[in-house]
Amino acid sequence: MKKKPLVVANWKATKTIKETIEWVKRTKPKLEEMVYLEVVVCPSFTSLPFVASLFKDTSIKVGAQNVSHWPDGPYTGEVTAAMIDGLADYCIVGHSERRRKFGETNEEVNSKINHLSQFKIKSVVCISNLDEANALWSVKDKITVVAYEPLFAIGTDKPDTPENAKKMSTLIKKALGEKIKVIYGGSVDPGNVANFTNQPEIDGVLPGRASWEPENFLNLLDSIRLNSS
Ligand code: PEP
Repeated sequence: MKKKPLVVANWKATKTIKETIEWVKRTKPKLEEMVYLEVVVCPSFTSLPFVASLFKDTSIKVGAQNVSHWPDGPYTGEVTAAMIDGLADYCIVGHSERRRKFGETNEEVNSKINHLSQFKIKSVVCISNLDEANALWSVKDKITVVAYEPLFAIGTDKPDTPENAKKMSTLIKKALGEKIKVIYGGSVDPGNVANFTNQPEIDGVLPGRASWEPENFLNLLDSIRLNSS
């Protein structure tokens, strides 16, 4: 295998604290053996401290799913970059569910990336088209990962083709810089994951639903190695 694929597991709004502890208990021994991957687990804010503590001193990284676009102050209910500093190595920003269901704008996405970079928290910025990629121009040097996630593929069991994902990855790198990792997200599962990770232009994947159940997630990770070309 030429590169170490990055796998960002997006739990979305699932898992109580009890379910979180059970998930970690069932996956941790295997995850620690998977040194050929960089795995980032992104739980909800309530589970974040538990996941951070349970994976402390392992190679497994932890990510938040969102962060406030405000630094701090009178913003009831917001969770700021300073608050997740020390808990999260990564943070998903601009997920299409936030852009579409919560009206998150490109300006807010850029502001989040700026706040995260102050705390050296790595941004995983989700985009579904090249317009959203181009809107990141002014913060491109503060971005670690861009996740290309076409809308038709999220939560639908209808993934994009590896060929199109590869083409989009090349265009995103051309627009924002070759040092940014570009990963693919949208109905990734154990059966199709290697079609994406085997593309040299694609640096990894962002599974949502396929990361929720421990066995299914471990199968997905195994599949990357077993089907590596
Ligand atoms: C996602 O969470 O961004 C995602 C792509 O979800 P799913 O893998 O379930 O389509």
